[in-house]
Amino acid sequence: MALGCLAHGNRAALRTWLLLPPLPVGVGQRGAPGSSSRAFSRSNCYSRLVGRACGVHQTSSPSFGFLFDIDGVLLRGRLVIPAAKKAFQKLTNSKGQFHVPVAFVTNAGNCSRDSKAKELSEALGFKVSPEWVILSHSPLRLFHQFHKKCVLVCGQGPVEENARDLGFQHVVTIEEVRKAFPLLDMVDQSRRPKELPPMPTDFPTVEGIILLGEPVRWETCLQLIIDILLSNGNPGVQLATVPYPHLPILACNMDLLWMAEAKMPRFGHGTFLVCLENIYKKMTGKELKYEALIGKPSTVTYRYAEHVIEQQMGSWGWTSPLRHLYAVGDNPMADVYGANLYNRYLQTQAKVSVTTMAAESKEQRNHNVCSAESCQSILVCTGVYSPYGDVPTDCNKSMLETVFHGHRDFHFDPSLVEASHVVHDVNDAVELVFQKENWKQE
Ligand SMILES: [Mg+2]
Repeated sequence: MALGCLAHGNRAALRTWLLLPPLPVGVGQRGAPGSSSRAFSRSNCYSRLVGRACGVHQTSSPSFGFLFDIDGVLLRGRLVIPAAKKAFQKLTNSKGQFHVPVAFVTNAGNCSRDSKAKELSEALGFKVSPEWVILSHSPLRLFHQFHKKCVLVCGQGPVEENARDLGFQHVVTIEEVRKAFPLLDMVDQSRRPKELPPMPTDFPTVEGIILLGEPVRWETCLQLIIDILLSNGNPGVQLATVPYPHLPILACNMDLLWMAEAKMPRFGHGTFLVCLENIYKKMTGKELKYEALIGKPSTVTYRYAEHVIEQQMGSWGWTSPLRHLYAVGDNPMADVYGANLYNRYLQTQAKVSVTTMAAESKEQRNHNVCSAESCQSILVCTGVYSPYGDVPTDCNKSMLETVFHGHRDFHFDPSLVEASHVVHDVNDAVELVFQKENWKQE
């Protein structure tokens, strides 16, 4: 399956948001979910972001910005990586205000932006605004076509609160399904109901599934999600045939693994998705399909991040147009692949813009064109990536033969896993960028 399919929902959301001309629908794509959605209110988003941003002192306007991954770049679990502190001494003044625009782009999703910003503030020693934090599910704000549907949300932490904050108005949790249909969750014998419960009569029909991040009690979540899919949203009934296409699924964060304090990487949400996809396939003989997969390396996440950077620049009065983005990460399949994919998107978009400009109004043109010209990937060695692993002699050949940790729906392009730069840590990454941009910090 091609990446175009993977990113279809993303493309639909991007198109709605940016008023881009329609993109061709590729093989295996579902209908056009974005076609009937309301236009994303950029002006609302702008004013909200600008209104909350902190004032920042800066004497000259930067034309570049940083997109920092968090785990494995700034933090290892709860521990701050020492190089991160050094890096932010270069990036901030004595009041903790940025010299250049910065956004934190993480595939974490089982938390709120506020709590992640608080965690970063404590770790880095200056106030990080929630507006600068992009979680894996943040771009779901763009998927207006699902916001009024009844959706099942799966993850951990404040899942219901997060879903509502993203715009979903009718939210059902896994726990609510389990309570309404206690006979469905039977793996843990200690949690089986002692008495036969009555069938619920007022449980809403689920119209979509939002996978926000890895849940706890995987057996319960996998069972109930499969039940919702096989019953077309009414887990109290058994259908004679498998409904297919199944209910739309939006999934955030495809990372198979992530790096915490342990020496070896830990299961990420991508591992949960592997389980779900394979159970569904084994039970039905059909492929589980996603309406959209978001979070890095999805293009929509990077476009959203660029938007956040632009807002920072505007709110701080920096007038130079944004030209270069530098994405610093530790995961080749998420951070490097995503940044390179977005860089490719920017190059393609530049060509499209030239051909479509003549037919567009000035207002449309302003909305259509991303201001960034490039997005370079910088790989650090403080997290998932190890420079001491087996280095293939023939990258193109061996990349296809070695274990592929990317998501099932990616048409793997080995050239996109090649980082623009490989450095030891985030401090080296900042120094490298300052050098490339000829940025002299006072
Ligand atoms: Mg990471």
